[in-house]
Amino acid sequence: MENYTIKRNEDVEYLQFNKLLEFQDDLEHAFTLKTFDVGLNKEETNLDFNFNKISRVLNVEKEQIYKPKQTHSSNIVQITDGKENLMNVDGLITDKNNRALVISIADCICLMIYDPKNKVIANIHSGWKGTLQKIGQKAVNIMINDYNCRPDNIICCIGPSIRKDHFLVNKDVAEFFEDKFSDYIKNNQIIEETDEYNEKGKQYKIDSVLINELMLEELGLLSTNIIDSNICTICSKDKFHSYRAEGKDFCKNMGIMMLK
Ligand SMILES: [Zn+2]
Repeated sequence: MENYTIKRNEDVEYLQFNKLLEFQDDLEHAFTLKTFDVGLNKEETNLDFNFNKISRVLNVEKEQIYKPKQTHSSNIVQITDGKENLMNVDGLITDKNNRALVISIADCICLMIYDPKNKVIANIHSGWKGTLQKIGQKAVNIMINDYNCRPDNIICCIGPSIRKDHFLVNKDVAEFFEDKFSDYIKNNQIIEETDEYNEKGKQYKIDSVLINELMLEELGLLSTNIIDSNICTICSKDKFHSYRAEGKDFCKNMGIMMLK
């Protein structure tokens, strides 16, 4: 039994997490499928066209869409008056209604975080660099410290992303993870040596989804409130955009959240 529902409106297909749909009176959210294929590419052109379309489909005001210029940083901005600078930002948080937080994703992890009690949302881009910088933990800590959220109320949904079996990295990257997450390594297989080689040498598999889950649990999120789509963007490349599968002309999926 899947923990999400795929919907279609106009020609836009999108995924919604069943757990978040329980709160649909307060929360709008969606993770778009490949059919939303209108050029949200590397240069992020046609954003205007995309936003027109998604605003119609989801009943979001186009003027209230906030889309940061993502750079694989750990910078998070809290949206209040809507005049925030969104350059070099990879996470957005708000407790204001009608602010649609948009993250674009192709293989990286989209963390859709929601506290239904205090009505706070965070939409986070956690690729391998963001994961190393613990951007998910940073977001939850902001929710706890600045919005008085209790970790055991917080729900985090993990979007379709590249999964361990395809996420091969070189030794240097594996070592970054080894250093940063040495505590996790004791009990979890987050790094696995493979028999594969490239020009730089041996390849390693990284379980970046598990690392993000462990980071969230470390802050007190309940495992039952961490909902993984369990979708691999490589295995499901017919359904979702994937940087590794599409190559240099890749497009991106869009994760969007808004408090109503
Ligand atoms: Zn896969």
